[in-house]
Amino acid sequence: MRSILDYTPQGLRSILGQAGIAPFRADQVLRWVYARGVRDFGQMSNLPRPLRAELAAGFRTRELALDEVVASSDGTRKLALRTHDGGRIEAVLIPEGERRTVCVSSQIGCSLDCSFCATGRMGFGRNLGSGEIVDQVLAVADLLTPLDERPTHLVFMGMGEPLLNLPAVLQAIETLRDPRGFGISPRRITVSTAGVVPRMPELGRSAPVRLAVSLHATTDALRDELVPLNKRFPLARLIEACRSYPLRPRDRISFEYVLIADVNDGAADARRLVRLLHGIPSKVNLIPLNEYPGTRYRRPSDTSVELFAELLARGHLSVTVRRSRGDDILAACGQLGAKPPAPAAGAPRSSRPGR
Ligand code: SAH
Repeated sequence: MRSILDYTPQGLRSILGQAGIAPFRADQVLRWVYARGVRDFGQMSNLPRPLRAELAAGFRTRELALDEVVASSDGTRKLALRTHDGGRIEAVLIPEGERRTVCVSSQIGCSLDCSFCATGRMGFGRNLGSGEIVDQVLAVADLLTPLDERPTHLVFMGMGEPLLNLPAVLQAIETLRDPRGFGISPRRITVSTAGVVPRMPELGRSAPVRLAVSLHATTDALRDELVPLNKRFPLARLIEACRSYPLRPRDRISFEYVLIADVNDGAADARRLVRLLHGIPSKVNLIPLNEYPGTRYRRPSDTSVELFAELLARGHLSVTVRRSRGDDILAACGQLGAKPPAPAAGAPRSSRPGR
């Protein structure tokens, strides 16, 4: 059975068109699914009954089952979702003022095995289909009430490496940015990569989304250790790909830099970072390491984080320190897929939807 979510709005019009169904019918279906969160064809009351039955016989409207929603004390919510073949992925809702950012996964697990990231430890399952990416946003939207509170921002910073699943990622973006989908402007969509250099030009050509690059180190020796992908695409090539990345005026590349105590948080690292990014329209996002059970790395003190940020600012880099969200529920950057420690007795951490 095919899935509605696997078609872009245009694609749905043409596939239904081949069955002799008028284009406005496709738009009606899309409105039900994306604007109203209705997945049951039987409830799509402005469609003729025979059409509802025909669609129900030919199409699924759901790719993922919701296993669990875990709420953080800061309002972040982590959704544990399951694919038809039993794959486990996570999506995160990060509310912040008027913003409702959804962080989605692009793969089941991840093949890159960055040494400080929990997802890498799961190993790699498979690429997600575009419908499975889209359904993560729908699953998050289902949690939002009232219904007019739609997701406003989207980041591909969950499990997986989006540039190793680019066709599905691009198709999901096409659906999600369409006004008949969620209407999320590409300016509010960020694709984060650990540095799959050969795929970067294609992303730049295909969609005017924001690019984030997970840098984390300023020498090949250290980056080889933290981000093993660096052995294939070393720093010089990565930085070159950033320099030639097509940016529109006033656009900047975000460089993510996880700060790890005594590993990459020294003054010499800061100085090299300034030199490395010289001339690239950039913004550095410092992420003090989010620790998770079993990691050998430590988060630096707030003072060293401040000092590092200060050194970058003095080198005329624009720098922000990412306030970690969802840290207490292992929903923060690099914690997805981490197993929680055994819960303390009598302290329920999670709520199942509908309870
Ligand atoms: N594979 C892509 C998409 C994942 S984004 C990428 O690497 O960019 C997830 C971000 O969280 C990346 O910048 C990653 O380096 C960062 N991260 C991973 N583990 C982390 C940890 N333990 N603490 C803080 N950030 C982490």
